[in-house]
Parts: sequence; C-alpha cells; structure tokens
Amino acid sequence: MSRYRNFKIVLFCTAPNMINLTEKQLLRQLDWFDKYSGCDKVYLEPYRDGVLIPEEQLEMLIRVFKSRGVEVSGALTTTCNDLTPEHKEKVRFSGTYCYTNKEMRDYLVTTVEYTAKHFDEFILDDWFFTYCTCDECRAAKGDRSWEDFRTDLLAEVSENLVVKPAKAVNPNVKVIIKYPNWSEAYQESGYDPSKQRNIFDLIYTGTETRDTPNSDQHLPRYMSYSLTRLMENYAPGRNGGTWFDPYGCSPLEIFLEQGYLSAFARAKELTLFCWGSLYKNRVVRRSVCSSNRSTRSSTRRVRLSAHRRICRRTRRARIILRTSWAWSAFRWNSRPTSRRTAKAYSSPFRH
Ligand SMILES: [Zn+2]
Repeated sequence: MSRYRNFKIVLFCTAPNMINLTEKQLLRQLDWFDKYSGCDKVYLEPYRDGVLIPEEQLEMLIRVFKSRGVEVSGALTTTCNDLTPEHKEKVRFSGTYCYTNKEMRDYLVTTVEYTAKHFDEFILDDWFFTYCTCDECRAAKGDRSWEDFRTDLLAEVSENLVVKPAKAVNPNVKVIIKYPNWSEAYQESGYDPSKQRNIFDLIYTGTETRDTPNSDQHLPRYMSYSLTRLMENYAPGRNGGTWFDPYGCSPLEIFLEQGYLSAFARAKELTLFCWGSLYKNRVVRRSVCSSNRSTRSSTRRVRLSAHRRICRRTRRARIILRTSWAWSAFRWNSRPTSRRTAKAYSSPFRH
C-alpha cells in the first residue's frame, strides 16, 4: 500500500543504474528506498546513451520489483552514439537525435519496439528534442524557421517513430512524453505540447528547478508548481506527474521545495530521478523525515508546517552564523596588537 494518500512515489531507474545489478543488490537497495522514501512504482529504462539492458537482466528486474508489490513501467531515453562514421559530422547536442537521418530514425524505432515489448506503459525522458543543424536538417528545413521545422519534425517523429511502432508491438501500451523544465524554449527545440498532447497518451512535467541564483538555468523555484499546473491545463487529467532530481540542490531544502511544490500542484506521481543518484543520498533521508510528518496533516497544515520548518532551519542557521562571527570578532578585538598582526592571515574576516 502506498505510503502517501495523494500521490505515488516513483523511482526512475536508468539503464546504467540497473544493467549490472544482481538480484541480491537490487533487493538490498530496494529495502533502503522502502525505509526512507517508499517506492510505489518504478520507471525502468532498458536503453539510454547506447546502453541496452539485455532481456534476461530486464526480466529479472521486472520480476523482483513486482514480487515486492512495486508497479513497473518502462522508460526510454532518446539518445544515441554516432552510428556511422558520417555521423561524426552532425551537429548534435549530447547524443540527441538527428531525426532527418535514416539510420538514426531506424535506430530509434528499434529502441522503441524493445521498450514497448516489455512494458504496458513507458515514459520518454526529456532528451527527445533536437538541435541538429547538419546539412540534411538544413535541406529539410528549407525556408521555414527552425521553430516551425522542428515542431513539425518532432510531431511527425512522435507519431510515426514512437507511438505507432510502440502500439504495433504492444497494442495496450501507453506512451508518456515528459517535458523539460525549460518551457521558454520548447518550440526552438521541437517540443510542442499543443500538437503532442493529441499524439501521446499522457504528458509529464519536469519540476527540477534547483538552486535558482547559482545554477546556469536560473529557474524560478515556484516553477515546480506553475509549470505543473500549466501542463495540467494543456491536457486536463492527463498530466501523469512531476519529476525532479537532487542535482544542484544545495542547501538540501531546495530538493524538498521541489517535492513540496510538485505535491501542492496536485501531481499524481512524484518521480525521483534517479535510482543511482539517490541510493544512500542524504537528500532522500531528509525528504522522508519531512514528508512523513507532513502527510498526517491536511493540505493547509502541510503547507504551513513546511514553511515553518524551512523558516526555523534558516533562522537557526543565521543565529549560528551570527554567533560564530560575533565570537570571532570579540576574540579578534580582544587580542593584543602584536598578536593581531601575527595572526592577520587567519582572521575570519580575511577569507
Ligand atoms: Zn541533422
């Protein structure tokens, strides 16, 4: 039974996380997640970045998760390495596809079919976009803008290379598209929720806002809430959930806020990315301590208690800092002048 009343906790398992795990290791790690965050469901990924989990290993993972009462869905990251020597000339971004190239289109279909064969639901990680500007793409673009070309292209790929081949292999399969947190640039990279909401069964929202001032994206933190609501309005009742990770989440409260704001936006699932980055990670331990206390309250009390907790921690940290600075200053000022000079380079005010 789920630990939380209003949402499921989902762990995202990447192919590199899972490819070498033995049954014993998987059970031990699942015990850890059960203890700290709970694990109602997993998105289990057979393929990412050229890494493909062999069938035997995949079946073992599915069997073990199901034997522990964990719901199992699939996932797919649409990236690939260069498939031919000519692909080295392509101007791609971190292995994202050139969707005008025949070899790459065929390869994508192969990975989609492999995933659909094993799962009745799978989610696309948000590497589905394209920034390719190779000669083939420039020729196919013609006089159109990059936005028009890429949104048309990705809609065609969504339909013909993802959803249709998946449903041909497994008529029961539901395909989910996860949108990234950078909503201001969706169209430039081919994403178009207004078209794709009619192609995919479900959509999904990235809420990994991270440390606003100190991360390169500078995403406003309330976006974990507002983007979820926006996507829900794009496809009412079909926004499957939210997804965030622990990267760039220092102090740890940032990770918690991503979770709180995703939950307040009424996400049906909170997907924690990813298994390998979270196993034995202290952000999980912290989030659980907070969430367990929170779920016993009503929504209003949850909101207040979360807010008060963050304020309390911040206030405590400020007091500690002030006290230590005041104490250092007092000690510094009460030293004889000669010692001050000698110790000048160890003064706290000089660092
Ligand atoms: Zn291209």
